Amino acid sequence: MKLLVIGAGGREHALAWRLLQSSRATRPIKVFVAPGNAGTLLEEDFENLSITGIPELVEFARKESIAFTVIGPEAPLAAGIVDAFRAAGQKIFGPTRQAAQLETSKGFAKAFMQRHGIPTAAYASFSSAAEAHHYLDQTGAPIVIKADGLAAGKGVVVATTLAEAHAAVDAMLVENRVGDAGARIVIEEFLEGEEASFIVMADGRHVLPLATSQDHKRLKEGDQGPNTGGMGAYSPAPVITPKLHAKIMREVIQATMNGLEQDGETYTGFLYAGLMIAPDGSVKVLEFNCRMGDPEAEVILLRLKSDLVTLMEHAMNGTLDKIEAEWDRRTALGVIMAAQGYPDTPRKGDVIHGLPQLLAMASSEKDFHVFHAGTALGGEDGKETVTAGGRVLCVTALGDSVKIAQRRAYDIAEQIHFDGCQMRHDIGYRAINHRK
Ligand code: AMP
Repeated sequence: MKLLVIGAGGREHALAWRLLQSSRATRPIKVFVAPGNAGTLLEEDFENLSITGIPELVEFARKESIAFTVIGPEAPLAAGIVDAFRAAGQKIFGPTRQAAQLETSKGFAKAFMQRHGIPTAAYASFSSAAEAHHYLDQTGAPIVIKADGLAAGKGVVVATTLAEAHAAVDAMLVENRVGDAGARIVIEEFLEGEEASFIVMADGRHVLPLATSQDHKRLKEGDQGPNTGGMGAYSPAPVITPKLHAKIMREVIQATMNGLEQDGETYTGFLYAGLMIAPDGSVKVLEFNCRMGDPEAEVILLRLKSDLVTLMEHAMNGTLDKIEAEWDRRTALGVIMAAQGYPDTPRKGDVIHGLPQLLAMASSEKDFHVFHAGTALGGEDGKETVTAGGRVLCVTALGDSVKIAQRRAYDIAEQIHFDGCQMRHDIGYRAINHRK
């Protein structure tokens, strides 16, 4: 069986790694990753592909008889990769470009939620800076300014003062700082509470909830410093009690699936609801993503005991109601090791030390995995693993408690070195406090 995973991050390494372990897949199995990273290059039974164009990928899938393709990041979904594969009769796990607007346009997502009664923050949309400034003067701060389109994590400003809010409006609508993504903006009520990630697999009619998770977005300890793609995560999220889980399934997930159906959409793939859980237990949707989060994918997939190939086949066949997912009862915790200069100007080319020994260990011990993100082969002989992106590695470990998983992940991370490495030392602190 041959499978294809699109993307280059830790999420894609984790997806490819879990797919490879399928007992359902006929042997020999091979997982192609386009374009992949050093992690997917070095592990057995993986092969990196340098092609990234959609027509070329469709052609590759056809020629190689790929059983199905899985999309990691949002950009190919926005570019219509699912539509192109389906048009060519190739199986693919992910939503169409139209359905992916839940992620690719904040205005679309907000209007969708309002239309279908899905709880979310009050908002207004603008393309005129003058109107946006006028609106801000009525609402006051704190307030949240969001670019409508995909802005690689740089499109949201949580403004604590009105001056910051006005500046964010000008940055997006006047100075064009996030490009076309900021040609329209959403201004949204500020919500207080604890964030959690709720990800399901959808087959168009049914959903299968994955394990819950939480990530740490800020660069610095204590959730300080600039926003990043995520500096660490853990699963499960203790804030989501069984009662809250049922409420989220009903008020958010089922309501979203019903809304999609009413709008004539057949949504297949991962659906991610970024939630804010208020102190009174009420839940509001901050955003939808049409893919797994990164680093949430790494911790969720480390805990997945069910066969991922089987789950995805059920999703593509519309039979997710016939199956349940089984999870390792332990907590998984992932720590990001990021490059010098991340998130603004990550430095590339620093040699990463300590990985070969770990690769050998990971094959004998099953309670951790070092997922690669921004890595490549390089160095003097071209055979060393070097940094090649902002987030470099996600060191992910399992433990009987959050604290034990945390300890294990940091013990492993300490064996890995590269110049300028940035790593938070408090991943999981909220979950540990929850337990207390
Ligand atoms: P988003 O991409 O919409 O999830 O926004 C990115 C981050 O900004 C979220 O993970 C939150 O930390 C923060 N955020 C977004 N919307 C709000 C809101 N309405 N109130 C408070 N924080 C928000």
